[in-house]
Amino acid sequence: MAEKANGTDGIARRDFMGGIAGASIAALAIRAAEAGAQTAPPLAGGSAPDPAVYPPVRTGLRGQHPGSFEIAHQARDGGFAGPVAAEPTGEQYDLIVVGGGISGLSAAHFYRNALGQDRKILILDNHDDFGGHAKRNEFHAGARTVLSYGGTMSIETPFPYSYVAKGLLAELGVVPRTYEKYARPDTYKGLQTSIFFDKEHFLADKVVPGYRKRPAAAFFADAPLTPAVRADLIRIHTEKVDYLPDLDPAGKARALKKMSYQDFLTKHAGLRADSLPFFLGQGYRNNMRVDTCPAYMAFKSNAPGFQGMEIARQIEAEAEHFHFPDGNASIARLLVSRLVPGVFPAGKLDQESIVMAPADYTKLDVAANPTRIRLSSIVIRTEHIGTPDALTEKAVRVVYAKGGKTYEVTGANVILACFNNIIPYIVPSLPEEQKTALKYPSKVPLLYTNVLIRNWQAWQKLGIYMMAAPNGYHQWATLDIPMAIGGYQSAATPDQPVVIHMVRNPNMPGLPRRDQNRMGRLDIQNTPFETIEKEIRDQLDRALGPGGFKASRDILAITVNRWPHGYAYTYDTLGDPDLPDAERPHVIGRQPFGRIAIANADAGASAFTNVAIDQAHRAVQEVIVSRGLT
Ligand SMILES: Cc1cc2nc3c(=O)[nH]c(=O)nc-3n(C[C@H](O)[C@H](O)[C@H](O)COP(=O)(O)OP(=O)(O)OC[C@H]3O[C@@H](n4cnc5c(N)ncnc54)[C@H](O)[C@@H]3O)c2cc1C
Repeated sequence: MAEKANGTDGIARRDFMGGIAGASIAALAIRAAEAGAQTAPPLAGGSAPDPAVYPPVRTGLRGQHPGSFEIAHQARDGGFAGPVAAEPTGEQYDLIVVGGGISGLSAAHFYRNALGQDRKILILDNHDDFGGHAKRNEFHAGARTVLSYGGTMSIETPFPYSYVAKGLLAELGVVPRTYEKYARPDTYKGLQTSIFFDKEHFLADKVVPGYRKRPAAAFFADAPLTPAVRADLIRIHTEKVDYLPDLDPAGKARALKKMSYQDFLTKHAGLRADSLPFFLGQGYRNNMRVDTCPAYMAFKSNAPGFQGMEIARQIEAEAEHFHFPDGNASIARLLVSRLVPGVFPAGKLDQESIVMAPADYTKLDVAANPTRIRLSSIVIRTEHIGTPDALTEKAVRVVYAKGGKTYEVTGANVILACFNNIIPYIVPSLPEEQKTALKYPSKVPLLYTNVLIRNWQAWQKLGIYMMAAPNGYHQWATLDIPMAIGGYQSAATPDQPVVIHMVRNPNMPGLPRRDQNRMGRLDIQNTPFETIEKEIRDQLDRALGPGGFKASRDILAITVNRWPHGYAYTYDTLGDPDLPDAERPHVIGRQPFGRIAIANADAGASAFTNVAIDQAHRAVQEVIVSRGLT
């Protein structure tokens, strides 16, 4: 049941871009204000670490960065069919984990908790940093350290964290209910969410503040629209009409699950064709656009058009919420601090001390340590040595590519905490039905772009801290979440450097959602940094120029975290068959295969940190059962 509720109906507030994601941060801010936020600790900062040895400070194309994935595509295209030769390292492990994201790191942690801290574990990841989607971006502007999240933003879900996930957070010294202590909501006091109307789709370029804060009539009166479109948009946002009058509340819910938000707006609410651009570029849950988002999901996300309708609603409550300045990279860092000695300062780091803790990447892969993390190492083959049920210590051979060479390690067990999509290509001996199931999902492509700017005076002048750009290259831009924690202080006044966090969800309207994800993935993979940079500069100049912003003067650094394989694919009521949980592709796909188990958020068909943790726990349990380990 939980599976279905998570996979089909859960809406993450972060996923809804149509002016509602702003509500998430605003709500946090209000909660924090109510809790009486404390005074900021003193400024922290210091000299910039060397990007050659400290990946979080690297800029340009990050996320799935150049050099991290090309060999995976070779594997996908059959480049490693048949036996794969590799140089034996002679290394033998109790457990080899493929993927150093939160799921892989959690799997290593659970395994050690169950079987002893001395068990030999190797974690292999294709990136130059650990954490997977949970990626730290670190900037240094003069004496200031400015942190941001390159991927996984917050601890949050629309469904409860499990006993296991809550337990892990507690072990790591993370207490979500204390978040308000660190939030600094007053930083953006008086500033509002806004919409950027672009001249290609509306009458002129203009940022209009106060979307869904000011009365619709006042907001749209300021927007560059024709009188007809203005009247239409005001009507959709305000009129209390039941557009499905023949259905009772439960029937309405059923009907809305089977139609797109676009169909609801145009066919039932009578939206004009020339009003549609206001909704077209906006992203809804998991990159669902107005054409692929079920209307019911839009309703649950408080999108306009439903205010006159009584619709049966499944109860959903956000269970946990905590944001670190570097997002859930802090969770990855806390896990590494427990797994590998010497990377972080000694002692038990917690939610405060992890934030500014320096990390020594040279200590990640040291032979003397029981747990090792080997970066820039992409696994291209995982295969049993002998039969899958043979009870030997050298049960599985893992081949990885690093620096142009291939190497072999052996393990008693392997946990694949990587993407579902790649597993069929690196474990060719899997049953065909399982391979087909693993290939079903199409992860959501995203750019999480962080732009460090000299100051945010232009935002202050325009009266905004957040901007949805329905038809922009990046459809979302916001000043970073203000907070003070563990000696870190984000920009407190408009004259200080701050990160603008921008989001792009490329897609191809008209196609089924999974195909839109595939097209978006190609877009992300094929677009060079220079093009993205040009788009960023152009977009910010056009939107913020009237406030005095000048990209050539004000941009200090750009980090584009590209995630062609972003959010785990979640099912929806429009594009996926309604199947019992046991028949869902992610359940068929994650079955253990001899000594090989499968973790990662994909295995839970839900793009959340707690799911990545829960799936790691299940995989460790399967590993233990597979060998009757004590
Ligand atoms: C932009 C973005 C924002 C998000 N925001 C949130 C949020 O706010 N809250 C939330 O709860 N969740 C969020 N998520 C979901 C996020 O995916 C999960 O929370 C979680 O971080 C997933 O962890 P994981 O270990 O399952 O997968 P990943 O983080 O994807 O880690 C898997 C790792 O395995 C590596 N890998 C793949 N193939 C191989 C191979 N063959 N060899 C070696 N390594 C390999 C991958 O490159 C990756 O580093 C977000 C995701 C994205 C993309």
